[in-house]
Amino acid sequence: ADDLMYAEKQGYYHYVLRGDGRIRTGSATEILRDIGEHRFVVHYQPQISLKTGRIVGAEALVRKRGESGRLIPPNYFVPYYERERVISHLDLHVFQTVCQDFQKWKQQGIETSLSSNFSRVTLMAPDIVERLRRIAGLYGVPAEKLTIEVTESINKMEPVQLAALMKRLSEEGFCVVLDDFGSNYSNLSILTKLRFDKIKFDKSLVEELDSNEQSRIIMKHAMQICKELSGTQSLAEGIETVEQLRMLRQYECEYGQGYFFAKPMTAEAFFELLQKEQEDF
Ligand code: C2E
Ligand code: MG
Ligand code: MG
Ligand code: MG
Repeated sequence: ADDLMYAEKQGYYHYVLRGDGRIRTGSATEILRDIGEHRFVVHYQPQISLKTGRIVGAEALVRKRGESGRLIPPNYFVPYYERERVISHLDLHVFQTVCQDFQKWKQQGIETSLSSNFSRVTLMAPDIVERLRRIAGLYGVPAEKLTIEVTESINKMEPVQLAALMKRLSEEGFCVVLDDFGSNYSNLSILTKLRFDKIKFDKSLVEELDSNEQSRIIMKHAMQICKELSGTQSLAEGIETVEQLRMLRQYECEYGQGYFFAKPMTAEAFFELLQKEQEDF
């Protein structure tokens, strides 16, 4: 830990390189210690059915409590853990927290779908699906209530291993979502090669809906392609304006997520929201 220092700068935390210039944030002992000290906090962002306007579930998004108690966003530590090949400890910890929360909320009368993010590095472990199944079983969570979010980088996996992984995940009943679709230069061929339960359209595309006619055309037809290809449902992330929402509804996008509806919030706040919604209906 003494190699790592957080510096507060313009309201943001930055990792500071010490001594030999190496970042040593990512050792397995360090991440396990941080987990033991409850340094990671899981927030939830509601996901909405654009047809009914109701909450259908939430995405778990991890934050890290820094020295001063401030929460550090994942983009400041996830890439380092990936590079140091220790990200699986965090991904599985978040997944376990999600299962724990599911059980807790179910005991209070509300069952909701929850999704969490997985690095390709984590999914490359040969026994990963068995581990996920074991954790879900520990808390009595049906696999159907759990979504595994992966990004296109999964495509870099060895094809035979990747096909086996996708097959095992769907055999167990987990939902698999392709995250950040349309960011950078997405390749449509991944949709023909792999079968996803849902495609999550990246917020950069959603953002451009307001200003860019080309983006509107791409979004509209990409959602159509997903549907026709294999009945895959669409979710749009980063919805911030009512105008974006209007267009997405017009394109028959099934689900949405974004600041327009709600920002990521604590587990307690999300559960209160679920309870409130249940009373309202
Ligand atoms: P992601 O999975 O694509 O998550 C969406 C990100 O967009 C989240 O940022 C969320 O807070 C943000 N967001 C949601 N709605 C809006 C909106 O309307 N406008 C804007 N501008 N942003 C919005 P966050 O929480 O900082 O997470 C960043 C990334 O960190 C995630 O991107 C995901 O790739 C990664 N991440 C988060 N938790 C985990 C985890 O447990 N494991 C791994 N491997 N990665 C994680
Ligand atoms: Mg995600
Ligand atoms: Mg995303
Ligand atoms: Mg994203």
